[in-house]
Amino acid sequence: MTSPAAETRQLLEALGVPASRFTGGSRTVRSPLTGETIGAVKDDSPAEAKAAIGKAQAAFEAWRKVPGPQRGELVRLLGEELRAAKTELGRLVSLEVGKIASEGLGEVQEMIDICDFATGLSRQLYGLTIATERGDHRMMEQWHPAGVVGVISAFNFPVAVWSWNAALAFVCGDSVVWKPSEKTPLTALAVEAIFNRAAARFGGVPDGLLTLILGAREVGEVLVDDPRVPVVSATGSTAMGRIVGERVARRFGRSILELGGNNASIVTPSADLDLALRAIAFAAMGTAGQRCTSLRRLIVHDSVYDDLVGKLKKVYAGISVGNPLTTESLVGPLIDKAAFDGMQKALEEARKAGGTVHGGARVAEAGPQEAYYARPALVEMPKQVGPVVNETFAPILYVLKYSEFDEALALQNGVPQGLSSSIFATDMREVERFVSAQGSDCGIANVNMGPSGAEIGGAFGGEKETGGGRESGSDAWKAYMRRQTSAINYGRTLPLAQGVKFDV
Ligand code: NAD
Repeated sequence: MTSPAAETRQLLEALGVPASRFTGGSRTVRSPLTGETIGAVKDDSPAEAKAAIGKAQAAFEAWRKVPGPQRGELVRLLGEELRAAKTELGRLVSLEVGKIASEGLGEVQEMIDICDFATGLSRQLYGLTIATERGDHRMMEQWHPAGVVGVISAFNFPVAVWSWNAALAFVCGDSVVWKPSEKTPLTALAVEAIFNRAAARFGGVPDGLLTLILGAREVGEVLVDDPRVPVVSATGSTAMGRIVGERVARRFGRSILELGGNNASIVTPSADLDLALRAIAFAAMGTAGQRCTSLRRLIVHDSVYDDLVGKLKKVYAGISVGNPLTTESLVGPLIDKAAFDGMQKALEEARKAGGTVHGGARVAEAGPQEAYYARPALVEMPKQVGPVVNETFAPILYVLKYSEFDEALALQNGVPQGLSSSIFATDMREVERFVSAQGSDCGIANVNMGPSGAEIGGAFGGEKETGGGRESGSDAWKAYMRRQTSAINYGRTLPLAQGVKFDV
C-alpha cells in the first residue's frame, strides 16, 4: 500500500505542482490519517506578502478593464480544469485533512458548482435605474470591481472556501491574494497550479490575478492591515474574526467574516424520527464534527426523547471510526493533537456540569501514535451551560430536553453563535414559526434535514459571533464590488433636489 507521503507526492506532481514548492521548507505538513509528514513548505515573509499585494493591485488595474462575461470565461475554464482534476484534488483533500473519500470529492464538486454559478453571474452584475425627481435627469446605480480581495481560509474546507470567494471576486473584476490555513498548504498549491492552467488557456490574464501566500497568522495580518486590500474575507474561528474584523474596520476596509458555529436541531413531537436519526448522524459525526455547520446541540421534545436518544446511542456505539482511505469508516481523524485535547477538555467540563457522556475516547488502534482518532461523543446535558455554549471543533453532540416549543426556540437561540439550525417537524405551525422572524436567529434555518451540507446558490453565513458575512450564492457578489450612484443631467437647466434655489 502506498504511504500518505508517497501518494501525496504523486498527486501533487500529477496536478502540476513542482517538487520545490512542497519539499525543503521549514513548515512541516502532516496527514491526520497517520500523523506522518507529507510535505515541507516554505512560508512567505511579511515582505513577500506585501509584494504579492502590490502585484495583485497592478493585476486588478488591468483585470477591471476586461468585460464581465469575458472574466466569466476564465472562471468557466477554471471549472473545466477542476472537473479534470477532481479525482486527484479530492484525494489530496482527504490526505491533508482526513476527510472520507466522498467528502474530499464533494469539496471539489462544490468548487465546480461555484464556478458554474459565477460564470452565469458574470452576465448578471446588475445595477438599477432609479426614478428621479429632477426633469431631464437619469439616476442609476452601478457596481464596480472593489480591488484586491484578501482571502484567509480555515483548514476544514481547505479549497472550497477559496473558490466561494475567488470565483465571485474574479467575475466581479477583482484580483485575489489567498492565505490558506497553515495546516493545509498542499491543497492550496494544487489549486494554484489548476488555476494557472485555466489562466494559460484563457490567455492574457494579468500576472498576479491570483497570488498564494503561505504562512501562519503573521502572514494573514499583512492582508488584514494593508489599505491596498479593500475587502478581506476571513474564514475561521470567532477568536480570529474578532481580531481581524476590528483591524480591518480600523482602516475602514470591508470584511466578510465566516466564523464559528454552534448549530442546533430541534426534534419536535411530530418529527419523522427515522429521517431525523439519519440526518442527525451525518450532521453531527460527518467530517468528524469538523464542519462549521456540524450539529453540536440536539434539542429534543420530552415525548420522543427516550425513543430517539436510545436509537442515537446505538448509532454512536456502532459507527466505524478509522482511516477513511484504507477502511470503510465514516468517521476519520481529528486534524491534530490540539483538536483531540480540546475535545477531551470539553467532555471533562460537560461531566463537571452534570452531563452524561457516551463515547468520546481515543481510538488508538485506528492509527499510529501521531494520528488522533476519537469515537464521537453523545452527551446528555441537564442544562445548556458550560461547554454547550461554545464551539468545540470535534464530534461532540450535546442533547437537551424540552417540553414547550418556546423553550426549544430559546435554547436554540441562546448561544453567542448564529450560523446554522434546523427543525424536524411535520406540524406546519411549528415549522413556520421556526423559519419566521420570531424563530431561528441563524443565517441558515433548515427543515427536516440537519444544519450541515449547504449547497451553492443560497447565501452562506451566519449572525452574531459567526460574523455576519455572506458568501457563495444569492447576491453575495455585491460584497466583492463597490456601489456607485450616478445622477446624469441631459437637460439645459439645473434643477436642484428638494427644490433648493441657488441662482447666481
Ligand atoms: P483558525 O481561526 O485557527 O484559522 C483560520 C485562518 O485564520 C488560518 O488561515 C489562520 O492562519 C488565520 N489567522 C488566525 N489568526 C489570524 C489573525 N490574527 N490575522 C490573520 N489571520 C489569522 O481556524 P481553523 O482552526 O483553521 O478552522 C476552524 C474554525 O473555522 C472553526 O471555528 C469553524 O467553525 C470555522 N469555519 C467557519 C466557516 C464558516 O463559513 N462560517 C467555514 C469553515 C470553518
